Amino acid sequence: MNDTTTAAIEAHGLTKLYRDYYAIRDVTFSVPRGQIAAFLGPNGAGKSTTMRILTGFMAPSSGVAKICGFDVATDRLKAAEKLGYLPENGPLYLEMTPRGLLRYFGSARGMSADRLASRIEFVVEKCGLGSVLDKPIRKLSRGFRQRVGMAQVMLHEPEVLIMDEPTSGLDPNQIREVRKTIREFASTKTVLLSTHILQEVEAMADRVIFIHEGRIVFDGPTAEMKKEQATLEAFFHAKTGVPV
Ligand code: ADP
Repeated sequence: MNDTTTAAIEAHGLTKLYRDYYAIRDVTFSVPRGQIAAFLGPNGAGKSTTMRILTGFMAPSSGVAKICGFDVATDRLKAAEKLGYLPENGPLYLEMTPRGLLRYFGSARGMSADRLASRIEFVVEKCGLGSVLDKPIRKLSRGFRQRVGMAQVMLHEPEVLIMDEPTSGLDPNQIREVRKTIREFASTKTVLLSTHILQEVEAMADRVIFIHEGRIVFDGPTAEMKKEQATLEAFFHAKTGVPV
């Protein structure tokens, strides 16, 4: 299955046990194509665990994850082709330059030299990397590193972007820029971004999947959260008991 009616991201009964501890339990949701969904929850709620499973980096104890209809466990390569994943701490190849990193990932994905050159030009422009293209990533600020990570995940034109706390640790200007890039990308694609910050939800997403202590406690439009409680802060507190 790979038609336009298939959800872009599907989690079916995902459960992950670390020894005898349930990091997530029966997590089920789906994100249709063209949506920006926020995956919201306090620290330790299970966001990264879910995202690692959805992106095929970790196997669940039980359950199934699909990207554009492809099971990430049994149809791994097809799912990976559709997917860009930005892990929490961005790119790890600190000795490489952004140019070297993009070439490396493009070749690893089997992109032709021509396509790779034109895609590098595109993502460098889109992510504002021109001035740092040949500097080692280790010398770049957190904001630039995050942009390198964004360029890397957009390089192969994935249909689905999964990003773990994409604005954490950035200053307000950098946050604005990263959000702008994500919004532009999302005009034609699907984005799931995790956050524990309510402003991020309001700024970016019209849909919220809220996880607390490994279970989904709310899934619906952002506006609906405000119907239940006067503010998102009150809603968050009511669901988790955690002060904002
Ligand atoms: P979040 O991304 O929402 O902060 P995580 O998915 O990182 O949450 O973690 C969910 C829970 O699982 C937390 O209680 C965390 O301590 C625990 N956990 C995460 N990774 C491991 C691991 N490798 N081994 C044991 N426990 C883990």
